[in-house]
Amino acid sequence: MRCAIIADIHSNLVAFRAVLDDITCRGGVEEIWCLGDIVGYGPNPRECIELLREYRHCGVAGNHDWAAIRKIDVSDFNPVAAEACNWTAARLDESSFAYLDALPLVLERGDFTLVHGSPDAPIEEYLLSSYRAMFNLSSISTRHCLVGHSHIPMLFVFSTQYPDYRLVALPDEICLDCSERLIVNPGSVGQPRDGDPRASYMIMDITSGSLYHYRVEYDILSVQEKMRCEGLPSRLAIRLSYGQ
Ligand code: ZN
Repeated sequence: MRCAIIADIHSNLVAFRAVLDDITCRGGVEEIWCLGDIVGYGPNPRECIELLREYRHCGVAGNHDWAAIRKIDVSDFNPVAAEACNWTAARLDESSFAYLDALPLVLERGDFTLVHGSPDAPIEEYLLSSYRAMFNLSSISTRHCLVGHSHIPMLFVFSTQYPDYRLVALPDEICLDCSERLIVNPGSVGQPRDGDPRASYMIMDITSGSLYHYRVEYDILSVQEKMRCEGLPSRLAIRLSYGQ
């Protein structure tokens, strides 16, 4: 069984298509696991939801998904994010609205808990420190956890032999070891923030116990042009060039 792990598509249809093409080139997957924020920031919210729904998948809600359907208000968002959120809300149809509304905050799949932010605060917390990783891992019942939200590929490892958490840069390949518990962030498909503008995602081979991290180039200029045409904040378009 192979599955793709994706997060933070953020209405970037061109990046999402590039990732799906890359998955196909690598032999395909049986299922996609989506860690939230399908919409927000980018110029194709409805199309991204519709494309995801063409695939066998499961997923959780992100803060931008909830803000777009007014499940949370945008008062905590910075002005640029709030403007994009209002733009997004106006472009959802009934079907995409209902889809986002039905997304759970937390999901369990085998040995993994799926959540957008963190198990303790599913759509709020940015899981960036080993200290917080430790607390969050203690509050789930599965061995491992998959998170998004920060848009930064990241790995926290807890070894039963060395009882502390280590924060390490996400390697290209991770072997699931029964003596370890992991929290993994696959990075962002549609708005990477680790200084690498390429789309980021992972494929997991559950049978062999391996996770693979991939980066995929896509046509950033075409997305920026579309964002300009739609009147989305220019800062959101510019940052795609830098992966920031
Ligand atoms: Zn996000």
